[in-house]
Amino acid sequence: MSTHLDVAKVRADFPILEMRVHNKPLVYLDNANTTQKPRGVIERTREFYEAENANLHRATHYLSEVATRRYEEARIKVANFLNAPDSHQIIFTRGCTEGINLVAATWGRQNISEGDEILLSEMEHHSNIVPWQIVAKEKGAKIVVAPINDRGELLVEEWQKLLSPRTKIASIIHVSNALGTVNPVKELVGMAHANGTKILVDGAQSLPHLRVDLQDLDADFFTCSSHKIYGATGVGALYGKRELLEEMPPYQSGGDMISSVSWSNTTWNELPYKFEAGTPNMAGVTGFGAAIDWVESVGLDNIAAHEADLLAYATERIREVEGVRIIGEAKHKASVLSFVMEDTHPNDIGHLVDTQGVAIRTGHHCAEPLMRRFGVPATCRASFAAYNTREEVDIFINSLKFARDLLV
Ligand code: PMP
Repeated sequence: MSTHLDVAKVRADFPILEMRVHNKPLVYLDNANTTQKPRGVIERTREFYEAENANLHRATHYLSEVATRRYEEARIKVANFLNAPDSHQIIFTRGCTEGINLVAATWGRQNISEGDEILLSEMEHHSNIVPWQIVAKEKGAKIVVAPINDRGELLVEEWQKLLSPRTKIASIIHVSNALGTVNPVKELVGMAHANGTKILVDGAQSLPHLRVDLQDLDADFFTCSSHKIYGATGVGALYGKRELLEEMPPYQSGGDMISSVSWSNTTWNELPYKFEAGTPNMAGVTGFGAAIDWVESVGLDNIAAHEADLLAYATERIREVEGVRIIGEAKHKASVLSFVMEDTHPNDIGHLVDTQGVAIRTGHHCAEPLMRRFGVPATCRASFAAYNTREEVDIFINSLKFARDLLV
């Protein structure tokens, strides 16, 4: 399949890809874990510290104005990228994890009571399980888990049947980090709303691969992380519907999130600042904006088509390796190839392919209940990004054969 992506040009933007590991060229296939950063992001972050650094909103001096402007420009970039109705509904967080914790700890505590239900699915990441378990335990609410089939697809009808009058919120992974499954989130949002249930979409793994249109999707909350889409670590965004964000109590408190403080009555700042207490990762946020600029300059659709080609090619070629079983064979998948190899442990494979310069992830992928569902302790996972090539897939497959020959 030919795509409109000039991979050589893309690769030239990423200094780290020139690296050698164990005296072999680096083949970085751990992108679902975190992506590498293009020069534009690295330079934006450096420029912030070299020429723009000051604290935000709090001073009238020149540099503070520049820093504030840069920070708010990034918010507009994220809002536009996601087609949010208003950039004030984009809250900068530490990442997807913090976004979900924020919603569970504020909206959850305020709206979930004894006997209520929270609908999740078998394929959730721990960050979309544990915050809900904490609020459920505190409130005497129940976690309800929707099943998936052996291909790793959500059983949508079962999910719908599990929506009850007590289901206050459903929280669903958009693209599974461990399987690659793309969930039909728009359909789920419609079903949840028809039941009077709020819904959060965990977009950690969809943001880098699929066009997300928040106005079309109509989810109540959407969370994502900058580092999964070529941006800085420790930065992410939470989107929420305005009326919900307005009603929610603050998450953390302190500087910036207040309108006025007195001993008797403290009032909250307007959106989004109500949820941004303290000094944020300003350089990282501006880097998030630069990452979005980079993705838009290459074209998200071009990236998605290129990754789909790599996934299809790798899925075909991995079948040559004896004893490999793919975990996650959904019809609609993005960028992730998870597998186990009979008579071997994923960690041993991970170490051996690393000796060949190939970086993959091995482990439970922060999805232990999902691993149990498939009866495996862990998997190996190769995950693709804009800069990967078919030649790298070939090196990866050879490294797997090398590992297999040594282990079996
Ligand atoms: N959800 C999913 C589906 C993820 O893949 C991840 C990261 N692996 C997270 C949430 C958490 O993201 P972060 O670690 O950036 O907060």
